[in-house]
Amino acid sequence: ATLIEIQEIARQYTIGTETIHALKSVSLNIKKGEFVALMGPSGSGKSTLMNILGCLDTPNYGDYILNGINVSDMTDDELAEVRNKEIGFVFQTFNLLPKSTALENVALPLIYAGIKQSVREEKATQALNSVGLGNRVDHRPNELSGGQRQRVAVARALINNPSIILADEPTGNLDTKTSIEIMGLLEEIHSKGNTIILVTHEEDIAQHAHRIVRMRDGLIEADYPNTDIKSVS
Ligand code: ADP
Ligand code: ADP
Repeated sequence: ATLIEIQEIARQYTIGTETIHALKSVSLNIKKGEFVALMGPSGSGKSTLMNILGCLDTPNYGDYILNGINVSDMTDDELAEVRNKEIGFVFQTFNLLPKSTALENVALPLIYAGIKQSVREEKATQALNSVGLGNRVDHRPNELSGGQRQRVAVARALINNPSIILADEPTGNLDTKTSIEIMGLLEEIHSKGNTIILVTHEEDIAQHAHRIVRMRDGLIEADYPNTDIKSVS
């Protein structure tokens, strides 16, 4: 089933009298359960595309149909609702609340979803168990290693059962060994049927994905199946 359908979208930014064409004309279809690596040099439009995919932004032209819903012309409030339901974000910098415990960080999206505390705690505990952090629920981010912080972020991204996981340079702040561990975790999540879109600069990291999309100057310059998949396990 097609999960993401992007048809000739464009996104430009105007600064003073200058117009920057961040995305010129981008079309992309992604099926449920795909694991895609998005690559390309700095300034090629990856963040702009990820922001649109994640319903943080909308295109100026063209359509983005997510799970059968055209989100291209939604208001910010409508977009926020779709985002909370459909998207799980993982960032390079983890983006955890520093004063909250691992459990509280993971449970946060469930507060927005209106779920009561006892259920939130149960689900968050389960999610932390599933990323191997069952023994770290009461730790705060500064009491965790980089890899453990990213595991907390992955658990948070999964907690609402999103349609898509968007991972923006998830290994960018991690050493090689820890990066491989996090890729193993993403592989495991993918093997359970989740759809993952990963932005990375590192070819080694991209090799874990099953499809590679390369951008340049606001266009997709290549889009092909990865015939040389590198697997952690
Ligand atoms: P990448 O993530 O591949 O580095 P971006 O999507 O961040 O690329 O940027 C694509 C182009 O759009 C760049 O020329 C960048 O400077 C420009 N751009 C991105 N975001 C903005 C913004 N908020 N305002 C103005 N220009 C932007
Ligand atoms: P970059 O990849 O350029 O370092 P980030 O990965 O931190 O930037 O953020 C990418 C985009 O997601 C930005 O436009 C930012 O505003 C947005 N963003 C960052 N953190 C969150 C968050 N916790 N929830 C929703 N959107 C976020």
